[in-house]
Amino acid sequence: MQKGAIRVQTENIFPIIKKFLYSDHDIFLRELVSNAVDATQKLKTLASVGEFKGETGETDVTVSLDKEKKTITISDRGIGMTAEEVDKYINQVAFSGAEEFVKKYKGQGEGANIIGHFGLGFYSSFMVSAQVEIFTKSWRPESQAVRWECDGSPEYQLEPTEKETRGTDIVLHINEESEEFLDEHRIRAILEKFCRFLPVPIKFQGEQINNTTPPGSKSRLN
Ligand code: ADP
Repeated sequence: MQKGAIRVQTENIFPIIKKFLYSDHDIFLRELVSNAVDATQKLKTLASVGEFKGETGETDVTVSLDKEKKTITISDRGIGMTAEEVDKYINQVAFSGAEEFVKKYKGQGEGANIIGHFGLGFYSSFMVSAQVEIFTKSWRPESQAVRWECDGSPEYQLEPTEKETRGTDIVLHINEESEEFLDEHRIRAILEKFCRFLPVPIKFQGEQINNTTPPGSKSRLN
């Protein structure tokens, strides 16, 4: 098991970000679903150029809710990440976006719309989570799956884990103040708001949210 401290200088970065984004907490889902779609598209590209030679299989992105466990899980069968990639893209890249954000906006006014400019993406999950786990397995042959965990302090854990399928599961352990998101209708409404035109099927509780047929092309029903 690898243990370490995420390389951010500001120890109390999370409360600051939470405060800034107070009015717009539901963006966490958009960010995580977008990452899942990106990872899926990358896998399809690797398959189309012949670099990925395995079975692509089903590539839906699924969102699920477990009220008892108080979790929301976003799963994809995209490219996944190796331990090195988690270290690079999550511990370094995702968190450096957050650090930059705080440096620039500390002590300034409302910042609800600026999250996108800083690639806070994945990091926004901590707005609603007491703990976040990543289970991921890279598309590369013989990859060792890994589990990453962070409770919002700069300390994270990264260790080998068992995972059958390629891709990534992001498990959000929803915090007490955000229990409003443990509601089917709320999640469905958020997904319907931004998933409509996404190119990969997005499923919530077994039902597909979006129509991936591009406008103007033949409907699959005809
Ligand atoms: P951005 O998406 O703007 O690059 P994020 O903080 O959301 O920033 O994510 C950082 C990086 O982590 C991504 O660029 C990607 O390399 C990696 N990543 C995040 N989510 C996934 C995922 N579901 N599958 C594979 N890689 C991912």
